[in-house]
Amino acid sequence: MMPPEGAPGRRPGRLSRGGHRRGGGRQGLRSFAPSRTGHRLAAAGSGGEASGGEGAERGAGWHTPPAMSEADEIREHADRYSRDGFAGMLPLRPSRSLAIVTCMDSRMPIFAILGLRPGEAHIIRNAGGVVTDDVVRSLLLSQRLMGTREIVLVHHTDCGLTKISEDRMRSELERDTGMRPWFAFESFQDPYADVKQSILRLRRSPFLVHRDRISGFVYEVESGLLHPVDAPAGIDLQASD
Ligand SMILES: [Zn+2]
Repeated sequence: MMPPEGAPGRRPGRLSRGGHRRGGGRQGLRSFAPSRTGHRLAAAGSGGEASGGEGAERGAGWHTPPAMSEADEIREHADRYSRDGFAGMLPLRPSRSLAIVTCMDSRMPIFAILGLRPGEAHIIRNAGGVVTDDVVRSLLLSQRLMGTREIVLVHHTDCGLTKISEDRMRSELERDTGMRPWFAFESFQDPYADVKQSILRLRRSPFLVHRDRISGFVYEVESGLLHPVDAPAGIDLQASD
């Protein structure tokens, strides 16, 4: 919905892992795939040497096999991960009792930026990292059922939500679909101010058990720096413990 955020840019010349141009046909995938191709691929009937001739074998009536999709590539990766990267099942409750709310922006590798490992924190993402009803839903479940006690908000510079006009987006949608959206897009201009807004919303939410440890940051996509945001003052803080 927002090109700067998550549009699947078809960058010419983009190389997939192993140096094969994505979309270069299934053969490229096969030659990249490790010889011990996992059961899922084998089960799908696409493993082995014969796959390169798939199209030819099926005769002239068949189209060229479709280019490798993102889902295919992901499945390949996940298959290798399950063998080579998976460290075993972890407890359901986040070990650092932490929940992160952040934007869906593709330039924020949130685990790497924040130094998190699997099993340590809940990650709740949407366009803008906005505190919507659904984010509150996730957070209250995170706190009440999974024992998290601290919330960290991460917004960022160059966010797609700073580039849209709420009114224009509404008008466009009404024109294109006949309906005006019933939700707000929550566009904003200043990510620092928006982090403060988000902190206020959380502090005032009656559904959260723990509201005394909520902090916010702005991630600079230009530099990789993470800047703390001063917590807004003048709001009653109901410490929960
Ligand atoms: Zn964003």
